Amino acid sequence: MIHFVGAGPGAADLITMRGARLLQETDIIIYAGSLVNPALLEYAKVGCQIYNSAEMTLEEVIDVMKDAESKSLDTVRLHTGDASLYGAIREQMDLLDELGIEYEDIPGVSSFSGAAAALNAEYTLPGVSQSVVITRMAGRTPVPEKESIREFAKHDCTMVIFLSTGLLEEVSEELMEGGYAADAPAAIVYKATWPEEKVVHCTVSTLAETARDNNITKTALILVGGFLGDKYERSKLYDPGFTTEFRQASK
Ligand code: SAH
Repeated sequence: MIHFVGAGPGAADLITMRGARLLQETDIIIYAGSLVNPALLEYAKVGCQIYNSAEMTLEEVIDVMKDAESKSLDTVRLHTGDASLYGAIREQMDLLDELGIEYEDIPGVSSFSGAAAALNAEYTLPGVSQSVVITRMAGRTPVPEKESIREFAKHDCTMVIFLSTGLLEEVSEELMEGGYAADAPAAIVYKATWPEEKVVHCTVSTLAETARDNNITKTALILVGGFLGDKYERSKLYDPGFTTEFRQASK
């Protein structure tokens, strides 16, 4: 059996209890070495074989899984954050299906949640934005034109931009072409929940220089939107004048 496990955003105790138990019990771990905190490997039992997928191709990863299956060994495939975002799990699952190898997927805390926590922020503030766009700049992996940052920026909603720390001049340009003001609030969160976490506030037009000044070149999220500002409305749910299924409004 192959267990795809979300490792969480960094801190070793932000993996789920189910994920941690699987790490403790498994015979083989294949982890995404470029981003998974190596401290998580300390959960592994003595004798567990550990592979760093940063140095492997898809075929090599699948070969390790195939070999494990032939020996009735358990494998944990450890992905950073939650594997459903930029995790390249689908291609693994499809090959496992072809081989008739069983798998399951254990969710993890994504770095976009880790970044919100680092900022003490709420992405969905009433009166500001009720939607979060999770996206990236096109890099070596293309992004469909209708999903460009410029297009999403037209919605003026909360945006969380992955995998784009090396392209911040372009990110700023796209955001402003889409309609964000140059002085709209933005933030960069580097290595959210890691001991070396950095949180820096800036504006849409100063993303690149802010990253440069703070020596941030990778492993960061770019956050943009009014949720980083001061204005919002109180929630209806906790409004004393609002009746819900569980509570009568006071007069
Ligand atoms: N599946 C992962 C994302 C993998 S893509 C998740 O759910 O978080 C890798 C990108 O995620 C990095 O380039 C960076 O943009 C972001 N990232 C991953 N961990 C991060 C962290 N702890 N802090 C900030 N950004 C992070």
